[in-house]
Amino acid sequence: MTKGNINVSVENIFPLIKKFLYSDHEIFLRELISNATDATLKLKHLTSIGEAKVEYGNPKIEVKVDKENKILHIIDQGIGMTGEEVEKYINQVAFSGAEEFLEKYKDTAKDSGIIGHFGLGFYSAFMVAEKVEIITKSYKDEPAVRWICDGSPEFTLEETTDKTERGTEIVLHIAEDSTEFLEEGKIRELLLKYNKFMPVPIKFGTKTHTLPLPEDAPEDAVAETEEVDNIINNPTPAWTIAPSELTNQDYMKFYHELYPMQFEEPLFNIHLNVDYPFNLTGILFFPKLNNNLNIEKDKIQLYQNQVFVTDEVKGIVPDFLMLLRGVIDSPDIPLNVSRSYLQADGAVKKISSYITKKVADKMSSLINENREDYEKKWNDIKVVIEYGIVTEEKFAEKADKFTLYPTTDGKYLLWNELEEKIKPNQTDKDGNLIVLYASNADEQHSYIQAAKDKGYEVLLLDSPIIPHVIQKLETSKEKISFARVDADHINNLIKKDEPLIAKLNETEKESLKKSVEEAVTDKKFTVQLEDLDSTDAPFTITQPEFMRRMKDM
Ligand code: ADP
Ligand code: MG
Repeated sequence: MTKGNINVSVENIFPLIKKFLYSDHEIFLRELISNATDATLKLKHLTSIGEAKVEYGNPKIEVKVDKENKILHIIDQGIGMTGEEVEKYINQVAFSGAEEFLEKYKDTAKDSGIIGHFGLGFYSAFMVAEKVEIITKSYKDEPAVRWICDGSPEFTLEETTDKTERGTEIVLHIAEDSTEFLEEGKIRELLLKYNKFMPVPIKFGTKTHTLPLPEDAPEDAVAETEEVDNIINNPTPAWTIAPSELTNQDYMKFYHELYPMQFEEPLFNIHLNVDYPFNLTGILFFPKLNNNLNIEKDKIQLYQNQVFVTDEVKGIVPDFLMLLRGVIDSPDIPLNVSRSYLQADGAVKKISSYITKKVADKMSSLINENREDYEKKWNDIKVVIEYGIVTEEKFAEKADKFTLYPTTDGKYLLWNELEEKIKPNQTDKDGNLIVLYASNADEQHSYIQAAKDKGYEVLLLDSPIIPHVIQKLETSKEKISFARVDADHINNLIKKDEPLIAKLNETEKESLKKSVEEAVTDKKFTVQLEDLDSTDAPFTITQPEFMRRMKDM
């Protein structure tokens, strides 16, 4: 037997990182800005605990395009690196300075929002650059250094007098095949996609700001303007703020920030906030489900420490909540190295069931807080709730608290209210509750009328998944059964008052029935003689309930 170490040389690994680690070349910018953010957050932490005796100030990150020289600059005012640190953190591939920092300051820094993890992000720069320079000056009183590398394992590192301010400048000499990243429009698009809610202000160019005119200005005075930093991100998005400090307006504002092309207001928001057994924050919105809804484009977005990861959230968010919008931010969602795929993991399941539970709890409190408002919105949210009842056991268990059953005369009943109402009048001989419903108020008008005349409550259940909901309710609840108003077993109900049709004698009934049956040749239907006096329908033709449902499914 031979034992040994597999020799991984950087020469072999470098092209691999460059080519295969990240499927999407554009994420280099996300990675470099994440590093700039980490460097700033580290400084913030070290000054707050008194370890770095420098002024933290109002640091920002700047991104600059120099198209003429084919250079992209990413500049931060964070902790910087000494020469020794560059050797340690940059020259050692797969050594994460972010991890090391979190380990060293684990008692105080676990909520600092540090992003880095795998120690590979920096090298994504070589996907788009043929040469990368790092010019950096540590917050410690040491000379600045310049590191240059052309993507081969060789590099140069030397002291420089070019940088006098604390922080790091990354200079990317963009490769021939990546010149799209020298377009301002492209960079702006990427910043807005990945960095829109990152915690340190990001400057990209300047914009013209019009100064207010003094009060005594003459009428024809022209307002003065000034050039100010164009900050592209909102460093404190609503989901990072405590719900108690947010007004409804703040949530709406955030919704429009998240989906600038969406003009319609959402119906409800659900603020998620958990720190045990995993960390997760976020805000989910119930949109109005109508034709304006662009589910393909405006999806729930997943963030990690305020860095956009993906809007493919299948698995994390249960299927029935995919119709919602909003953000979820969790440092604990296990992603692969390129941060773009979920790793199948028990944690993901836990997160999904937490979200389900949270949504159920929120629905309960919404209906309790303002029943009238909830009833008004029911039509827009019912599909989500009904889908949840059918597909998520945990959700179905809680759903009686917030599922409404609209009646054909405009009332909205909770399950227990419905039960109370129909118990005296709508049972069959075995004591089963029969819930009567119509699926189309116009088409089934005469049946609805007939049932109402007998004092029955008729629900109006018209959404497409209702047959499944009914099946679910019939199996999960005891001694209940649903019948559509035009189905036959409506006649199994024990009626308080004898129907007037009973007043016909047997021969009269027989002959009436016979003539109707002759007219209705289709044997799928049965003819029932009904109470005639208060409907304009002379008799009722019904179809067995099971056949009807087979058709609906
Ligand atoms: P990770 O961020 O996962 O730790 P990276 O490959 O992205 O790994 O970066 C490696 C390390 O290099 C960082 O952990 C950090 O210590 C250092 N570093 C990278 N960029 C900067 C920067 N702008 N300022 C200070 N240190 C940096
Ligand atoms: Mg990094």
